[in-house]
Amino acid sequence: MAYEVTLIPGDGIGPEVTQAAVRVLEATGIKFNWDMAYAGDYAQDTYGTPLPSYVFNSIRRNKVALKGPITTPIGSGFRSVNVALRKGLDLYVCLRPCKSYPGAPTVHQDVDIVVIRENTEDLYLGIEYERDTVEGEMLARFIIESGADGIRDDSNFSIKVISESATRRIAKYAFDYARANNRKKVTAVHKANILKYTDGLFLSTASKVAREYPDIYFETVIVDSMCMQLARFPQRHDILVLPNLYGDIISELCAGLIGGLGLAPGANIGDDIAVFEPTHGSAPKYTGQNKVNPMAMMLSGVMMLRYLGEKEAADRVERAIAEVVAEGKSVTYDMKPDRNDPTAVGTSQVADAVIEKMEE
Ligand code: NAD
Repeated sequence: MAYEVTLIPGDGIGPEVTQAAVRVLEATGIKFNWDMAYAGDYAQDTYGTPLPSYVFNSIRRNKVALKGPITTPIGSGFRSVNVALRKGLDLYVCLRPCKSYPGAPTVHQDVDIVVIRENTEDLYLGIEYERDTVEGEMLARFIIESGADGIRDDSNFSIKVISESATRRIAKYAFDYARANNRKKVTAVHKANILKYTDGLFLSTASKVAREYPDIYFETVIVDSMCMQLARFPQRHDILVLPNLYGDIISELCAGLIGGLGLAPGANIGDDIAVFEPTHGSAPKYTGQNKVNPMAMMLSGVMMLRYLGEKEAADRVERAIAEVVAEGKSVTYDMKPDRNDPTAVGTSQVADAVIEKMEE
């Protein structure tokens, strides 16, 4: 049997890292029917839109997708193709494990943090108003008439939205993930001391959900304090559950803790659909250079294998990647202590090395 999987190469460095990941996934012996779907630059040029509707149809049909990064187009109908996909498919979980692989150039060792970011609301709803518009003027007037002060005449507005229902489902996902993966602690990250109604709701809802999971230790940490703690003692943290914006920022911080974006995989998950993609973006300046690290994309593929129930194959690929990192020979520039190290290899050579390790 072959798995039907939507494959979105993306743009920028996307196609290169996707090709490397596909080669490694196919080297497991598991069969995939890749349903090719183009979004981003290529789709814009070919179909006149960066996100054609057939991409949604393909993912809805196959339920599983592997996706390369996509540049956020400027001046098109979409604020972000990535956000539109997550919203359109209600992929409410952004799951980003950040785990140390010995040999990666890092300050800290033994980091094993899972960032669980709410993916559908918060400031990412894109509800924004410029002051010099009718809506911006109405909003300013409403705010001033309702008694708030401190709004300058030259202010624009971005609205932060947090709901109880979305918080409840992301918090439940975090606790269920903890149970399923034998993890001990969930930390809700917030700024409820300042944002009483939005982060306050996130905090109170996550705390209520925590009571349904007495077997999992629960704590709450203010986001600024979390940054300090992660920089100093990242090993103290286990699962973090966060609203969308803090989740975006903290997941890159955690990627930095384990050696950078080249090693940080991810998934966007809904009730019955999952799209696997690395944390990093399309790094346009490296497009077509066979230079960037494909391991984040490969590790996203490992997450996909686990999601499909292919645990043995997933372990085999992850072990091979870990061995290549530990050896430090066939790795890209970002895995070298000196980023100008001339012995750094290219994207496709990393795939060769990982496949070789799998075959040993
Ligand atoms: P980026 O992650 O693309 O790149 C930032 C820097 O990180 C790069 O210049 C490079 O030095 C490094 N880097 C990234 N990936 C790497 C890899 N695999 N190996 C080695 N080094 C790597 O972030 P950016 O420059 O802010 O964003 C570029 C574009 O990507 C933007 O249009 C942004 O909107 C988009 N983006 C897309 C996604 C997604 O598709 N999910 C995520 C983030 C950003």
